[in-house]
Amino acid sequence: MSDKISVSLMQELLQEAYDKIKNDTGGANANYIPYLANIPSSLFGISVCLSNGEVVEVGDTNYAFGIESVSKVPTAILVMKQYGAQTLLDKIGADATGLPFNSIMAILLEKDHPSTPLVNAGAIAACSMVKPTGDPNGKWEAITDFLEALCGSKLVLIDELYKSETATNFNNKSIAWLLKNYDRIYDDPDLSLDLYTRQCSMGVTTRQLAIAGGTIASDGVNPVTGTKVFEAGISPQIVSLIATVGFYEHTGDWLYTSGIPAKTGVGGGVMGVVPGLMGIAAFAPPLDSAGNSVKAQKAIRYIANKLGVNVFGHKKFEIVQ
Ligand code: GLN
Repeated sequence: MSDKISVSLMQELLQEAYDKIKNDTGGANANYIPYLANIPSSLFGISVCLSNGEVVEVGDTNYAFGIESVSKVPTAILVMKQYGAQTLLDKIGADATGLPFNSIMAILLEKDHPSTPLVNAGAIAACSMVKPTGDPNGKWEAITDFLEALCGSKLVLIDELYKSETATNFNNKSIAWLLKNYDRIYDDPDLSLDLYTRQCSMGVTTRQLAIAGGTIASDGVNPVTGTKVFEAGISPQIVSLIATVGFYEHTGDWLYTSGIPAKTGVGGGVMGVVPGLMGIAAFAPPLDSAGNSVKAQKAIRYIANKLGVNVFGHKKFEIVQ
């Protein structure tokens, strides 16, 4: 027997989650990137993209916020697509660090690889590996083309965020050059860091992130545009990377309480993936101590628990009209 999920049920559930959580005052905007500190803290949106292409949403779902570390997922997929899943494992790795996303200690402790493309070190290494398109700006074009295919629509760089982050990313500069010391970055460190900083500064809506999650949940076929974005064979590895380290040092607590592999960004976005069923995204700027949006995680957890959706569980779901 499978449980039935319909658009109207999802709409009700999203509204219920939104109403329950919207006045939560926990957390604080990221303050180490000046642009993010100034985003209105009360913004809050939730979107779901079902694998049949239906999108259900509530709240500020058209507000373009900084994608930040959620961008680590698309670029990791692009590298897997260009080189294969094994090369990503060999050159970057797939282990959780158990440490903050920007940890230098993590690189020192495990100097044979940056551990995973979903922390800063591995993400900068992933940017260094991207094969360019034929354009003079080819690496950047390859990254943005892929991100847009995953989201199913155009994204715009938030120039003010890019400048703000470039002016203050001293820790990330150290990471890029430390990787160079260990031969774990595969292009010029400054250029690779710039690509990483730019990808983190792309504006994205919860709708676009839910569709990106829906594309990963649908084995690489974008459920809204119908475009095949990547080969189905790499889906399990992508979801395993997200499950392993998506919430950094809070990942175990997150998975234990929500059952949904999800990736966060310090812009306040979270993108979750339920293979075969849906992508789910939420956004609210105030963050917990690990840099994960407080309201977005509460919203996704509430919806997952209410539905009984859990990638470690047995319950089956059928999408009905
Ligand atoms: N651009 C941010 C940084 O490198 C991304 C961090 C994040 O979203 N966790 O610090």
